[in-house]
Amino acid sequence: MASPPPPPPKLPIPGRRNILITSALPYVNNVPHLGNIIGCVLSADVFARYCRLRGYNAIYICGTDEYGTATETKALEEKCSPKEICDKYHVIHDEVYKWFDIKFDKFGRTSAPEQTEVCQAIFHKLMESKWLTENTMQQLYCDTCERFLADRLVEGKCPTEGCNYEAARGDQCENCSKLLNPTELIDPKCKVCKNAPRIRDTDHLFLELPLLSDKLVNYINNTSVAGMWSQNAIQATNAWLKEGLKQRCITRDLKWGVPVPHEKYKDKVFYVWFDAPIGYISITASYTPDWEKWWKDPDNVELFQFMGKDNVPFHTVMFPSTLLGTGENWTMMKTISVTEYLNYEAGKFSKSHGIGVFGNDAKTTNIPSEVWRYYLLMNRPEVSDTLFTWADLQAKLNSELLNNLGNFINRVLSFVAKPAGGGYDSIIPDAPNVESHPLTNALAEKTNKWVEQYLEAMEKVKLKQGLKSAMAISSDGNAYLQESQFWRLYKEDPATCAIVMKTSVGVVYLLACLLEPFMPSFSREVLHQLNMSPDEDLSFCDDKGETAKAKRPWDFISAGHKIGKPVPLFKELKDEQVEAFRIKFAGSQAERILKEQAEAEAKKVAEKLKGTKLSEGSSKKKQSGGLKSKTAEEVSVAKLDIRVGLIRKAEKHPDADSLYVEEIDVGEEAPRTVVSGLVKFIPLEEMQNRKVCVLCNLKPVAMRGIKSHAMVLAASNEDHTKLSWLSLQNPLLLGRG
Ligand SMILES: [Zn+2]
Ligand SMILES: [Zn+2]
Repeated sequence: MASPPPPPPKLPIPGRRNILITSALPYVNNVPHLGNIIGCVLSADVFARYCRLRGYNAIYICGTDEYGTATETKALEEKCSPKEICDKYHVIHDEVYKWFDIKFDKFGRTSAPEQTEVCQAIFHKLMESKWLTENTMQQLYCDTCERFLADRLVEGKCPTEGCNYEAARGDQCENCSKLLNPTELIDPKCKVCKNAPRIRDTDHLFLELPLLSDKLVNYINNTSVAGMWSQNAIQATNAWLKEGLKQRCITRDLKWGVPVPHEKYKDKVFYVWFDAPIGYISITASYTPDWEKWWKDPDNVELFQFMGKDNVPFHTVMFPSTLLGTGENWTMMKTISVTEYLNYEAGKFSKSHGIGVFGNDAKTTNIPSEVWRYYLLMNRPEVSDTLFTWADLQAKLNSELLNNLGNFINRVLSFVAKPAGGGYDSIIPDAPNVESHPLTNALAEKTNKWVEQYLEAMEKVKLKQGLKSAMAISSDGNAYLQESQFWRLYKEDPATCAIVMKTSVGVVYLLACLLEPFMPSFSREVLHQLNMSPDEDLSFCDDKGETAKAKRPWDFISAGHKIGKPVPLFKELKDEQVEAFRIKFAGSQAERILKEQAEAEAKKVAEKLKGTKLSEGSSKKKQSGGLKSKTAEEVSVAKLDIRVGLIRKAEKHPDADSLYVEEIDVGEEAPRTVVSGLVKFIPLEEMQNRKVCVLCNLKPVAMRGIKSHAMVLAASNEDHTKLSWLSLQNPLLLGRG
């Protein structure tokens, strides 16, 4: 199916509220986890949807942040170009956000040509205004690779006393966790070519933050009040200011970035902190050539920015300084919305360690995206860290969505849909004299109060409070149904029953509107069941009189309207499902992927192993004949004992060119000796200190005179032309099966 052409880009409209919304640009080379999703893209999406619902002229801009060392390093690891890495992961991000129903006006990329244009133009302005100065730094340079080495591209012996770890990285020793400077490493080696780099002077450009500080402090003082900055944003900003502003280097000796348009620095690129926030502007530029109408009109455009707390100083100090330094009239951030961290079960969500539930995992649970959105937003870490637990997700789904919201809507619509004699044949009844029914008037009053609270909270970007107010309308609706005893009124007092039903259907519609920013797919479904159109009927504007109707909910839907077919909106999450998720998502994502791949690989191995006996541990019965017939049934994946092991030592087999002999720690007292035919796939040095999957319950076999006590499971690509090491830099638990 061809997708419809995108609507023409929106531009600011004089006299309207023009709102420009951004969320922190997710770094491209990872799959985002739920903590990242609630931290920026989802929160901004809720606010953008709210603005659209209210008839504000709003656009939501985001995209992947693609330049920098981390991408270059990842590209070296995966043996491809940085561009290929970005292409691959940009698609993953895009898919994850689509699944979560995030509606960007533009989801772009910082590697787009517009980024170079805007970045370089800003740089020229800063040069002209003399806010940039030059300074010399010392960095490691590899003569073989002809490049300065990023911290992570240097490896050497850890200088920490007692550690002596051989493969400490330039920025940190993985063994003793000490943060390092690459020049501190003993015998540093270039990670790419293994040659020794040397210390070399390199000149860089610096932004003179100290000279800009008056302008900056003035901006912060005014805007933090006018834009109602949250306490955590103000604190993080003040902490920076208190330390005193320092010159900040804006260039880097890298290739993957925006080139510096200056004769002396033409081989350098801009440092990511400088260029990433410019991505908001350049992505808007790839949305519309008239981007300056959004970005250079501070009097008519309000800029709202969403991010996690670690990102605050870049948006309240660094980015504003860059813009102020140009001397141009930029649209500067008015309101900043900051989230704390969402923790996972007992620990922290972690991208680098792969802990928690990731964007692409959520899909595999078959829990609909609206439930995820609801749960994450109800748990939005607005003032302090919050905790994700499966049990809590279950409780919120079952009690709040299913029993409160879903139950209310389904009860109302099912009753209206019943054939005449027991219901209204799906036709909304007329209900004159509503004022005569005190219970209905009391409900209208309460509903209106919740709507006022909802609007007030949402205007201040207090999303959790907004959601709670909307849900309270549903709770009151349930109580109203119960107290009215509508099922008795139907026969005894049909006029009042009609009032209750017409009012309740109005409340159903109101809920679909107010909850749309939080659960768009839920709202579409409710409107569908109401036989209304999400495109035309989702609106809650003051000037169309829609907000005023909250006082008269019976007026939302007119008598005679025929509703659609009601169906239950939510499905219960059972205890055993929750338990299964808890187990499935235990450990790190890398470990889970590794296990899945290893199991698939093991299946293939098992196929080939017909005739080889799997040992079943020490309690194994004595084997007699009939071994072959038994093997087929015994070689099943369930019986394969697969563990993550660490190769402590590897060397060439003394009598076989294709074999390595390894000592692998699989979490037992002593490492196991394992022989593997990996020579043509993996260089010897890459075998050392590797974490690998090991099949541990194979019967020991002698291979060219050396007994192998397990089997290394390397993942091969589809056609087995290449064996890829599953790159596991993570602290996996050894021996974990
Ligand atoms: Zn160390
Ligand atoms: Zn090198």
